[in-house]
Amino acid sequence: VGQLILILGDQLSDGIAALKRANKATDRVVMAEALGEGQAVPHHPQKIVLILTAMRKFADRLRSLGWTVDYSTLDDPANSQTLAGEILRRASENGSSAVIATAPGDWRLRQMLEDLPLRVTVLPDDRFLCSEADFAAWAKDRKALRMEWFYRDMRRKTGLLMVGEQPEGGQWNYDHDNRKPAVPDLFRPKPPRFAPDETTRDVMALVARHFPNHFGEVQNFDWATTPEQANEALDHFIQHSLPRFGDEQDAMLRDDPFLSHSLLSPYINLGLLDPLHVCQRAEAEYHAGRAPLNAVEGFIRQIIGWREYVRGIWSLHGPEYLTRNALGHQRPLPWAYWGGETHMACVKAVVRQTQEQAYAHHIQRLMVTGNFALLAGVDPAQVHAWYLSVYIDALEWVEAPNTLGMSQWADGGVIASKPYVSSGAYIDRMGDYCQSCAYDVRAKSGAKACPFNLLYWHFLDRQRDRFATNPRMAMIYRTWDKMAEAHRRDVLAQADALLDRLDAGGVV
Ligand code: FAD
Ligand code: SF4
Repeated sequence: VGQLILILGDQLSDGIAALKRANKATDRVVMAEALGEGQAVPHHPQKIVLILTAMRKFADRLRSLGWTVDYSTLDDPANSQTLAGEILRRASENGSSAVIATAPGDWRLRQMLEDLPLRVTVLPDDRFLCSEADFAAWAKDRKALRMEWFYRDMRRKTGLLMVGEQPEGGQWNYDHDNRKPAVPDLFRPKPPRFAPDETTRDVMALVARHFPNHFGEVQNFDWATTPEQANEALDHFIQHSLPRFGDEQDAMLRDDPFLSHSLLSPYINLGLLDPLHVCQRAEAEYHAGRAPLNAVEGFIRQIIGWREYVRGIWSLHGPEYLTRNALGHQRPLPWAYWGGETHMACVKAVVRQTQEQAYAHHIQRLMVTGNFALLAGVDPAQVHAWYLSVYIDALEWVEAPNTLGMSQWADGGVIASKPYVSSGAYIDRMGDYCQSCAYDVRAKSGAKACPFNLLYWHFLDRQRDRFATNPRMAMIYRTWDKMAEAHRRDVLAQADALLDRLDAGGVV
């Protein structure tokens, strides 16, 4: 009797570790759609459609390559609707007692595998360029785990943008060239979208039936669902958007949610694209003189730097990281995050776009919704649950460190040496939301004052003990302390009133 080879919904790579250990002639691949997984978190319908469609197409591909695949569809009456249940069902159907799996990027699933009453071998997921063991070795004995140092080692390890031992162009990081506000451009190329085929349409109908109340619109679905389509998306990005990626990386425009971002994260995360290949394609554009160094370096840093780094942090800190709340924030997530009314044009636009596309780019996630939640003191566990649900690329290993660490400072500074907070001025400088907002971004107090302005000082004031001694924040505290006392009192009182309104379910 052969072994069961478990393939999860984000393990859709031909070369996934478990398959490499399998024997086509005797082993059976197990893949399962499970209601239990879809309901653990109320995922955006487009995210469920993407994962289930890509799984179905991957199963077909494996069959065409000669594998035997036991695939449980969501509406199969025999489906037990949990992953553990389906593994056990297949084990008893086939008389197998051994399972080979690739390590999941989710602590709950790792525990589930450990608890199975079967012989389970869990292999490292070698699609990452830095293994969990290598990251632990890198982190050992370091006082601070700064991304920049990790990134330089990854450049050396991969040889990307290296000239011998030196970084291409003489610098490791060209971020100072990458902070330009966006200028509306009707001719800016739009990312390619993929019209749903029959399989995708079937899954869309299934998802609409099973998850009718989840936040997000299913009918707009036009993401790539196969490696071939994902490669088309990559080609398009490389050719049309990469050259402007650096310049527009931090910008935000109300009517252009994608700017020059790649929209490749869901494909890389599910295994439809290989991260090193994506970086090599970008590097080749620099060498061919078709994309500037600031764009290519910035893009590669996001993938071999940030992406690998947050995975390492997630692995190093374990499941306990998910419960961190260093700032003791307790407020419930405002209703506006689920589409409720708000007067804040920036939050409204980002939530609306999230609902329609299951996508927001990094600065929207960090400096609009993330920033507001942090300033308002929202319970990080609720912020984490939101990000994990609503984005098409959200998997625990990447979402949790980005949300809890980078965005909410809930890990007490493991990832970010200072909290990512800003007043409305930053949002105004980098985008155009303020131009159509009911609030006045220049007003520092009063009825029209931008909530980010009020809450920014409220946050700094209430977290003074924690941050006033941080050398990178001392200047901000000096600015605050120099303001007239009456003004400071006003700002704090108005921020308190705003938070009371939020708590009472009022519109902010
Ligand atoms: P681009 O801007 O084109 O960047 C290129 C690639 O770099 C991305 O495709 C992605 O693979 C990688 N990348 C960029 N930034 C990061 C980062 N900080 N961490 C990891 N990889 C990165 N990314 C996810 O993949 N899944 C998530 O669930 C997720 N949740 C986030 C939550 C918060 C609060 C924040 C602030 C960021 C989160 N990110 C997450 C990181 C980042 O916002 C997304 O990777 C990016 O917006 C995806 O869009 P893109 O493919 O157009 O990225
Ligand atoms: Fe957002 Fe404030 Fe600008 Fe309104 S004024 S869009 S709330 S930053």
